[in-house]
Amino acid sequence: MRKLAAGNWKMNGTAADLVQVQALITAHPAPGCDVLLCPPVSLLSRMADLAAGSAVQVGGQDCHPQGSGAHTGDISAQMLLDAGAHHVILGHSERRADHGETDALVRAKAQAALAAGLCAIVCVGELESQRDAGQTLAVIGAQLAASLPDAVPDAANLVIAYEPVWAIGTGRTPTLTEVGEVHAFIRAAIIARYGEAAQAMRLLYGGSVKPSNAAEIFAVPHVDGALVGGASLTAADFGAIVAAL
Ligand code: 13P
Repeated sequence: MRKLAAGNWKMNGTAADLVQVQALITAHPAPGCDVLLCPPVSLLSRMADLAAGSAVQVGGQDCHPQGSGAHTGDISAQMLLDAGAHHVILGHSERRADHGETDALVRAKAQAALAAGLCAIVCVGELESQRDAGQTLAVIGAQLAASLPDAVPDAANLVIAYEPVWAIGTGRTPTLTEVGEVHAFIRAAIIARYGEAAQAMRLLYGGSVKPSNAAEIFAVPHVDGALVGGASLTAADFGAIVAAL
């Protein structure tokens, strides 16, 4: 399957940073993988306009489970689609920590995203204390069971990102063996849940992916791409990761 290089800009970027997107498009007009950038919602439609006709797709970083209504400050999946998004990141550990998002809420959001026609990127990952306690697979299994949507009519529209919380923004990563163990576990879990169609669901690794470690991480079985934070902010670094895929 074609791999996916997804960039999560988090709460970074203003209009001036769109030059990085233009530089990425210019440097990688025909990348060997799918390329996605998820800017803050303030930049979404401008980035979508800039990327129109290029290989770069854009996405949101969160959505509300309902389509519209009295939810000040929130944005719906339909609105993201209207702004030019193809994807939405859901259940990122920073949303789970900063906004108390539960697995059940993430699941409702994922179902809303699929219903709106977006591709949902559902994030899971263990805390360092949970890894140290040997609970990693149990934690990931529970998150998958409760965060993933009930039905996925098109396997291409569900992406799962494994992001160990302790590897995000720290420069630390699991060993390749540990990444492979978790990705194989996720693959088995989604096949058990959705059937053989789940072979076509992409599994991303996220957490301190950078140009220097991208190629070795992408070579791990069941790693179908990356969800990149800090290194997605510049065309130089993200372009090198795109090239590694
Ligand atoms: P870093 O690549 O900055 O570690 O962030 C990873 C991440 O959280 C992507 O969603």
